[in-house]
Amino acid sequence: MAPRVLVVEDNPVNLELVAALLESEGCGVIPAETADASLRLAAEERPDLIVMDIQLPGMSGHDATRRLKADPATAGIPVVALTAHAMRGEEARAHEAGFDAFLTKPVDTHAFRAALHRFLGDPRERPAVR
Ligand code: MN
Repeated sequence: MAPRVLVVEDNPVNLELVAALLESEGCGVIPAETADASLRLAAEERPDLIVMDIQLPGMSGHDATRRLKADPATAGIPVVALTAHAMRGEEARAHEAGFDAFLTKPVDTHAFRAALHRFLGDPRERPAVR
């Protein structure tokens, strides 16, 4: 089975871009537009990876990731931060919240693929069916 990635992004254009990148890498995509939805979907679907926007309406990506990492059911799922804030200190704050990796927007496709390979393995070495 292809790896499934939960994408938490409130901007539809960014969501579409990230989903297209993931699909080109052979991943299935589970979309969520809010942090609340992401917590529910992470527990129900147990994705292989979560890509989380930090700036979300309502609960932030930081708080959602803290909750995911505090719940034994979801703590083992790697979470990659995606943020438009490339400010000094932002990466350290993301790591404190429990993110496993940190990427900035606009999405650098090379860095994005490298993160996917780090957490999911190289798709060329992945069996088509498992
Ligand atoms: Mn956002």
